Amino acid sequence: MRNLIILFLLLALSLPGANARAGQNVASDAPKRVVVLDAGHGGPRPGKVHREVVEKDYVLDVTKIVRKKLRSKMPDLEVYMTRSCDSAYHEDQAKDNRLRAAFCNEKGADLYVGIHANALKDKNKGGCEVWVLTLNENLMNQNKLVGERYADEGDFINPEDIDRNSQGFMMALSRQLENEPYSRFVAEECCKNMASYGLDNLGVKAGTVYTVLYYSECPGIIVEMGYLTNAKDYAYLTSKGAKDEMAEAISSAIVTYFKALDGDTSTSVPATTESNAEQEVEEREAVDESEAEKLAEGYTIQLISSTKEVDVNDYQFHEYKGRVWLVMGTGKYKYKYCFGRYATRSAAQNDLTAVRKRFKDAYVVRYKDGALVTK
Ligand SMILES: [Zn+2]
Repeated sequence: MRNLIILFLLLALSLPGANARAGQNVASDAPKRVVVLDAGHGGPRPGKVHREVVEKDYVLDVTKIVRKKLRSKMPDLEVYMTRSCDSAYHEDQAKDNRLRAAFCNEKGADLYVGIHANALKDKNKGGCEVWVLTLNENLMNQNKLVGERYADEGDFINPEDIDRNSQGFMMALSRQLENEPYSRFVAEECCKNMASYGLDNLGVKAGTVYTVLYYSECPGIIVEMGYLTNAKDYAYLTSKGAKDEMAEAISSAIVTYFKALDGDTSTSVPATTESNAEQEVEEREAVDESEAEKLAEGYTIQLISSTKEVDVNDYQFHEYKGRVWLVMGTGKYKYKYCFGRYATRSAAQNDLTAVRKRFKDAYVVRYKDGALVTK
């Protein structure tokens, strides 16, 4: 059984999408890129309804404009929509979501983009947010406490219902480890772009297990354009031009993502609000670096662990270029990609907050002679 799981993991990691990402950064000979746009809900499921806005119709309009914009901004990009009319894949909501993911996988997508609008009993809650998949137990548990989410049966998987020993979970976990940095990149771009039109930026969210993200094999995001139940968001979303602006925000994020993926350096380091924090790390690192070379043992910040070797100059580390190194651990995820070398735990801890803005699950580990020290 164990061998079978490993075989499946190897198969999962050798999928075209994963390979293309691991070996990219070459501008010429760039592979054909594919994006799947998923207008949320449809058919028997209207999604959120508030006053005269019905989510399934609203998001379909926006998605169609996104497609149109992508066709003119990036003619080489293959763009698919899961639906282009008021339809659904299955009467059962969970199956419907799984079929949307299957459509995405079948098209060999490099990116999945689900487009939604939000609503909540609490009318004070407003702003745009973008969700990515993470199977981090702490985050899943935090979101579980919100509870209300799982009432929307089928759109989400309750973490309590996931069998941690199942093949499906192992594969989803391995995909997520590879995909999350990419999903976060496009999610942050999208949030920033949407907020430029006046919506509050609630940022990138993770830890709620969206069914469609769980089963999609490529990086993916769920865009929530705002809360229909919030007066400010509602006024904006129903204003003239809002659909076009939201489509502009989403399509621009997608274009930035693909350009960065294919090694266009003019877009690979977008200006973000994190620049101060990054600079701070950079300054500290410059001080640490001279001594660091001598440090055969000490502390470092683990960014991600992987089942396979990744180039330390891989796109996902672009912000920390030249400062990411490989520390060997044991077990399935034995390749630990780490940032910086520190003589003391507290020195590493000082940089952790800034690093976590990009790598949410980063933490401080001890190393000796290039290997992880676990006790
Ligand atoms: Zn929705």
